[in-house]
Amino acid sequence: MVYSKKITKCDNSSISEQKIIYSVCIIGGGLAGLISAIHLAKHDIKVVLLEKHQYPRHKVCGEYVSNEVLPYLDSLGVNVFEHGAKNISKLKLSHQSGKTLEQQLPLGGFGISRFTLDQLLADKALKSNVEIIHDEVLDVAFQNDAFQITAKTQQIYADFVIGAQGKRSGLDKSLDRHFIKQKTPWIGIKAHYKTKEFDENLVELHNFQGGYCGLSMVENGNINLCYLVHQKAFKSYKSIEKFNKFGLTKNPHLKRFLTQSEPVFEKHLSISQISFQNKPSVKDHILYAGDAAGLIHPLCGNGMAMAIHSAKLVSEEIIKYYNKTHQDRISVEKSYQREWQKHFKKRLLYGKVIQSILLKPNLSSTLINLLSGSSLLLKQLIKQTHGKPIHA
Ligand SMILES: Cc1cc2nc3c(=O)[nH]c(=O)nc-3n(C[C@H](O)[C@H](O)[C@H](O)COP(=O)(O)OP(=O)(O)OC[C@H]3O[C@@H](n4cnc5c(N)ncnc54)[C@H](O)[C@@H]3O)c2cc1C
Repeated sequence: MVYSKKITKCDNSSISEQKIIYSVCIIGGGLAGLISAIHLAKHDIKVVLLEKHQYPRHKVCGEYVSNEVLPYLDSLGVNVFEHGAKNISKLKLSHQSGKTLEQQLPLGGFGISRFTLDQLLADKALKSNVEIIHDEVLDVAFQNDAFQITAKTQQIYADFVIGAQGKRSGLDKSLDRHFIKQKTPWIGIKAHYKTKEFDENLVELHNFQGGYCGLSMVENGNINLCYLVHQKAFKSYKSIEKFNKFGLTKNPHLKRFLTQSEPVFEKHLSISQISFQNKPSVKDHILYAGDAAGLIHPLCGNGMAMAIHSAKLVSEEIIKYYNKTHQDRISVEKSYQREWQKHFKKRLLYGKVIQSILLKPNLSSTLINLLSGSSLLLKQLIKQTHGKPIHA
């Protein structure tokens, strides 16, 4: 069953041309885009995916993925451990003063770089007959119950569009998405380091004035150092090097790590204007997945699992349309919105609350004290920001 139509159409200049109408066009080939492409292709749905960058590429991300995605990835034929992913089962949390707590994670996760993960998913998508085109989407128009997607070098036509363009894209301006108009103070910074001793089963989260920094191992034994910082805290240091040297090191755990480790990247990667605002999961008939539908605070370590899970949800609704369980587009959209809210609304809210506590020095110290005394409380907190294992 291949759901694509080839039609002949005359444009204004009366030149006859053949154009393919894809069933689904996916904008953005990060986790949400690639996973939905693989899922849909597995159901013989004709998919085209547009990604503006080439693979592989490093991205600002803590690279700790919650184990909740493992059964689903397995059902798609993706095994991250074959690519060296590290099994992570413990969390170490520290306050700016150096006070720490260390505990087992209820479900745990794995460490793998986006360089490797996105590449392996892109390979899988290609093997599953997904067409991947490296081009930047500039605009999307919906007319006569179909989409016309304008990329830099071509036009694409599709019955459905999944917007998986990540947390912030130039495209969001053309699509007049509300959140893009508001400035945000958050900056994300990442690099990989080589260090002598690091427990590969551990993810560390260290609090500092104006932000927090994660450390965990990826597939090649390098350590991912990734932090989120408020621009007010960052501003006076003027550069990443200075902030690393004088800002991060106020936390003694980060000081120890940075003095014993060597950066592998020539330059740290950084992104600004990270928005945690609410976004609609459907707008102008585009179905949004991953960060394009909402970003959870990174300290929860659940953004990637949410991107993967939302890709599953959106794919299932589209499949239901083609197998006639949904009679029309509106019923696909409504059902996807309901599912999205059901799975993610509360998690985003808890993420906001935990982040605001962690960024207040007195409150975060009290929180660490409380959590040190009760592993049950920590488990409950983690549960509120994570999902249950996702099955096919
Ligand atoms: C500082 C920080 C640390 C984090 N740490 C973690 C962590 O440890 N664990 C975790 O689970 N989550 C973490 N996250 C969140 C996680 O990175 C995201 O939730 C995840 O990357 C979302 O995947 P995505 O597919 O939605 O977006 P992305 O991976 O960003 O993919 C979007 C893709 O769309 C492409 N694109 C954009 N615009 C266009 C266009 N116009 N045309 C074509 N292509 C386009 C981009 O090139 C990109 O490849 C962190 C986030 C931040 C900011």
